[in-house]
Amino acid sequence: MMNRFAVAFGRRAVSLTQRRLLNYDCFADRHIGPSDLDRQHMLHDLGFKDLDGLTNTNVPEAIRMKRPLNLPRALDEERMLKELRSIAALNEIRKTYIGMGYYNCIVPAVIVRNMLQNAGWVTQYTPYQPEVSQGRLESLLNFQTMICDLTGLDVANASLLDESTACAEAMTLAKRFNKRNTLVYDPNLHPQNIALLKTRAEPLGINLVPMDYNRVSLDKTTSAIMIQYPDTEGRVPLLDDLIERAHANGTLVIMVCDLLSLTLIRSPGDLKADIAVGSAQRFGVPLGYGGPHAAFMAVAKSDGRNNLARSMPGRIVGVSKDANGKLAYRLALQTREQHIRRDKATSNICTAQALLANMAAMYAVYHGPHRLTAIARTVHKSTAFLAHQLKASGRHEVVHEDYFDTLKIRVRDVDELKKRCEEKKINIRFFEDGKHVGVSLDETTDPEDISDLLYVFGITKSADDVESHLHETPAPLIGNSDHSRRSTFLTHKIFNTHHSESQLVRYMKQLENKDISLVHSMIPLGSCTMKLNASAELIPITWPKFSNVHPFAPHSQTQGYAKMFQDLEKWLCEITGYDSVSLQPNSGANGEYAGLLAIRNYLNSIGQDQRNVCLIPSSAHGTNPASAQLANMRVVPVESDRHGNINFKDLSAKVDKFSNELAAIMITYPSTHGVFESSIVDVCNKIHENGGQVYLDGANLNAQVGLCRPGDYGSDVSHLNLHKTFCIPHGGGGPGAGPIAVKSHLTPFLPGHPVIPVDGREESAVSAAPYGSSSILAITWAYIRLMGGNGLREATQMAILNANYMAKRLEEGFKIVYKDEQGLNAHEFIIDCKPFKKSAGIEVIDIAKRLMDYGFHAPTMAWPVHDCLMIEPTESEDKGEMDRFVDSLLSIREEIRQIEEGAMDREVNPLKMAPHPLYTVVNSDWNRPYSREVAAFPKPWCHSKHWPTVARIDDQYGDRNLFCTCAPMEAYS
Ligand SMILES: *Cc1c(COP(=O)(O)O)cnc(C)c1O
Repeated sequence: MMNRFAVAFGRRAVSLTQRRLLNYDCFADRHIGPSDLDRQHMLHDLGFKDLDGLTNTNVPEAIRMKRPLNLPRALDEERMLKELRSIAALNEIRKTYIGMGYYNCIVPAVIVRNMLQNAGWVTQYTPYQPEVSQGRLESLLNFQTMICDLTGLDVANASLLDESTACAEAMTLAKRFNKRNTLVYDPNLHPQNIALLKTRAEPLGINLVPMDYNRVSLDKTTSAIMIQYPDTEGRVPLLDDLIERAHANGTLVIMVCDLLSLTLIRSPGDLKADIAVGSAQRFGVPLGYGGPHAAFMAVAKSDGRNNLARSMPGRIVGVSKDANGKLAYRLALQTREQHIRRDKATSNICTAQALLANMAAMYAVYHGPHRLTAIARTVHKSTAFLAHQLKASGRHEVVHEDYFDTLKIRVRDVDELKKRCEEKKINIRFFEDGKHVGVSLDETTDPEDISDLLYVFGITKSADDVESHLHETPAPLIGNSDHSRRSTFLTHKIFNTHHSESQLVRYMKQLENKDISLVHSMIPLGSCTMKLNASAELIPITWPKFSNVHPFAPHSQTQGYAKMFQDLEKWLCEITGYDSVSLQPNSGANGEYAGLLAIRNYLNSIGQDQRNVCLIPSSAHGTNPASAQLANMRVVPVESDRHGNINFKDLSAKVDKFSNELAAIMITYPSTHGVFESSIVDVCNKIHENGGQVYLDGANLNAQVGLCRPGDYGSDVSHLNLHKTFCIPHGGGGPGAGPIAVKSHLTPFLPGHPVIPVDGREESAVSAAPYGSSSILAITWAYIRLMGGNGLREATQMAILNANYMAKRLEEGFKIVYKDEQGLNAHEFIIDCKPFKKSAGIEVIDIAKRLMDYGFHAPTMAWPVHDCLMIEPTESEDKGEMDRFVDSLLSIREEIRQIEEGAMDREVNPLKMAPHPLYTVVNSDWNRPYSREVAAFPKPWCHSKHWPTVARIDDQYGDRNLFCTCAPMEAYS
């Protein structure tokens, strides 16, 4: 490292003419914000000679890594892309009809280019600051409206992680609702859905009973029945009687639905189902070898306190109004969520799938109800044509009469079929009995494909033949069928307006412009690490060789992914000091769950099943207690001391008290208070001596990469949020990837998969796809490849320098709540805003909203300490940007001083009235005791700032008047 640093300085010290050769490892210089000169200034301000001087001071000697990371030498963008392209080329793309919840689809190019590949749509944070997030909130509301319409139910969320986890969430929602403990499930759910039910039910003691359609037995313990619709064999079942019986028994009905089919068949709402879940993947989201995709959940509205909507998991966007009564959107009912309710939360979901929900919603906005129905009819007609040809041949049996897009076919000679599939490079589903196959068609299937499929089944028909007979083929769902949909959908104006490309581009741009993202300014969110998401890192996700791979394609066709995963697993082990990695968890919280499950199953395997206590410091992220709850562990809080460290005395007392029941501790390092605790090794030892396991929350590894490794200082398992430290963009609230890394004794307990076993493991799946959100893992691969070991270490050191530089400057106006013994912070720090309540009547939220007038997104608010802001600049921010942010906060401090001194009104002042959207500033009757300039342009750079589009939003109003679909037209007038 010293070496590289010296070279770097040396390089810049010599004149340009003396340096004519490019360095291949120059990307780190572009990822890292501050110039060499700025670094020197900042180091000087803090009293250090170089970066090592700084980090050797605040990273405790006992845990410091004494050697460089052993990773491949860094490559620049062009060469990295060349290497990754050669890896992607190892994937073989075949025409795939496997189905099972994943379908080819056409992602409209206009959405690829203007949303998926657009930093203005992918680099926003979760919309916790709604005044600068109205664009994606509107789009997510479109998503919810689309889901409500298609499912025929009343309230939908936006969004869940995948269909299988959504099934599990529906199961626990039903249990919360009627306090019953048995789920009766359709054995024709997709196998990964059954697998997730099993994983999640076991620790919670929920009884799972497969349903026998002929003799469905329900009793007073039956919480819900869960039905796949259409089922995994393609059958569209008739459900009225079953649903009636369930309801008569007080049992809820959960339907796992295919969105496209719902344009043609009766909706869950029409069938009187209570809950619908499913995946929105085939609405314009690439397969990506399993993800990321958005799953959905919708519920029927019921009256009274025990209300399904109010105990739903995940994020719900709701309609409210701003301070001037103007319609505005925000996240509704947040008191259900882990960040507030912790172990009492309705789920552990934090990061969801916002970007993918936005893509799916935009697909529906673009196509509208008529084109969607036309797509569905074409798919269905094609399937019907195939079915008729198969039957007419007399050689094959089509098992079910009522299908939408999927046929289960009994064939005479499976081996011959396999041979022909190989010849035509086609993937279909082979059932385990060796007698049946499955074929699922989709919007990409054209007559030529059908002709090839028929060939596989020994039938000769030209594509022209297919095309000319498609229309006249009778199809089971078209015409007057018992299954036909009876209700309209997507009637709202938004789904009937933007059908031309010009209109859609403008609509997307209009929404994008309402949201603050990394294209505007730094987003200094403590614990969330909003760092650069470099263009070169993002480009590979749209390569067809990555995006067009079905998650259940055979291994022989997915060698490119296999190679990428292998590299990534190896590199993440080297970075963390662990022995193996599971890439399956598709969010940090899901990783926590997977890690705790591994601990639980390990303890059970060594005869320690009485161990169920999980110690969690009171400052922990809300997902920790919520995940522990899901793993059925007993959460016991541990106190922090006044330095923000774990209170070792309290820890010892708790460990002694529960020594025989201790399963694990979940700790965050550096602590959520932003300091490197020197006692970390002692904490780990203490837990191990008492038979427990150490779960180190590695969501945010940005202060550790290259400096210290959790696996070295005593931790057994961590999840790593690749959407924080490792450059996957936040997408405005997802996607994420939360792989877990473990010590070898936990390796056998990592997640497996029922369809595509992972390293031979079939049990304990935690996501629908074997490798979770596979396609975006390429981003992390690219980042590590671009940075190399030295670059990564330098990034960590710069993140720490930037944080300490900002903290030092901010001390002029604010108290830094926690520091280590040397007076330093790690990569983030907390400023105290509590005193202003008393001195000026100013709350931390007033400061957060006022920052918007300066063109900035607020830092993390009210967590982990109330009335505080937690700031994390990351290494990607340059000194100029950090200075503008610090100057803004100091200027706000001056405004507070004017209130304290009586020079500004305590009620009507720029903080209480913040933010100031353009429409209030230009209002003719401006009658406030401060000027418009003060309101909107308090600093010179504000002239080109991002403007909030609404005034302060009324949260209470929205929660009292819950409204979660597109507002009726009157609301806009
Ligand atoms: C972000 C975060 C999590 C949760 O990760 P998600 O991907 O949002 O589920 C957990 N712990 C810490 C410390 C975090 O910062």
